[in-house]
Amino acid sequence: MSVDSNPIPVLAVARLSPLYMSQLAAACELHVLPDLDAAALAAVAPRIRAVAASGDSKVPASLIDQLPALQVISVMGVGYDGVDVAAAKARGVVVTHTPDVLNDDVADLALGLMLSTARQLPAADRFVRGGQWLQGNMPLARKMSGARLGIVGMGRIGQAIAQRALAFNMTVAYTARSAKPELPHRYLPSAAALAEVSDFLVVITPGGAGTRHLINAEVLDALGRSSPGGGILVNVARGSVVDDAALIDALERGVIAGAGLDVFEDEPRVPERLRALPQVVLTPHVGSATQGTRQAMADLAFANLQLRLAGQPARTPVPECR
Ligand code: NAP
Repeated sequence: MSVDSNPIPVLAVARLSPLYMSQLAAACELHVLPDLDAAALAAVAPRIRAVAASGDSKVPASLIDQLPALQVISVMGVGYDGVDVAAAKARGVVVTHTPDVLNDDVADLALGLMLSTARQLPAADRFVRGGQWLQGNMPLARKMSGARLGIVGMGRIGQAIAQRALAFNMTVAYTARSAKPELPHRYLPSAAALAEVSDFLVVITPGGAGTRHLINAEVLDALGRSSPGGGILVNVARGSVVDDAALIDALERGVIAGAGLDVFEDEPRVPERLRALPQVVLTPHVGSATQGTRQAMADLAFANLQLRLAGQPARTPVPECR
């Protein structure tokens, strides 16, 4: 990607996936923010035409303001809550992301966490490896098939989760900002109302200010009342959507039966009290982390960046920039 045979200067705000970075490095003049001191950034900033980011990157207004020639912020990820989209839009900078290509993987992981938590698969693995089986059988677990699933956020990934749950004969209900009459599932107006009628509550909304602590003590209490021993919470959205302190309290007091968590408020730091709980299954934000999907995400992020720099419409701008 070049103008008058000079490669276009691009700023990666973090050490991003090699699948994305290798494409950028081959086609652009790539600068990596963590490798630049303030003077080096100031020297290159006036020429930067594109910013590359991941779903958990921060692209604040203060950085956007430093880049007067910026045209596009291309996020490799569907969530873009770390990007100040309003500041970008005000400058005419297009923000793009990578929706749809990761739906299957994130939905697969949600079902995996539901099964792992209900059937205590990591504990069962430890039970065998640790030789405890020789002393007797494991305590009985919970059945998932036929149970009631509540989905908080019925967008692209929420619908992929619902589709899979039907194969487990689960009853699906959901909440979102708006009801979706075209879907065959029951809509409830709030997360608390949904939790009250759910054996499993799966969270799959965007992060950011609009959903911060949407899952709070009130919702967890409702999930606790939903079934004997309380329901199970699964979070594959963003750590910010769940109030970690309220969750730990609900787990320690036995209000809910367990939790399967892929994302955390202060990841990669995970509270010691959470890590100590046996009824919790933890994964390190790997919702979309398979080879094929990450390649598809990198390809789409790179295509968006290239198209915008070539003066063409990006393939998948975020809704605010459409
Ligand atoms: P999407 O299609 O935009 O769907 C988002 C859903 O959340 C929509 O149904 C929306 O409601 C709902 N929602 C938004 N704000 C809400 C609120 N305040 N209260 C209740 N519901 C609300 O997005 P998607 O592609 O499914 O992705 C969802 C999120 O998953 C991403 O933004 C990202 O944070 C997360 N994610 C995580 C991983 C991982 O690795 N764990 C991977 C990919 C994505 P409406 O339909 O009414 O607008």
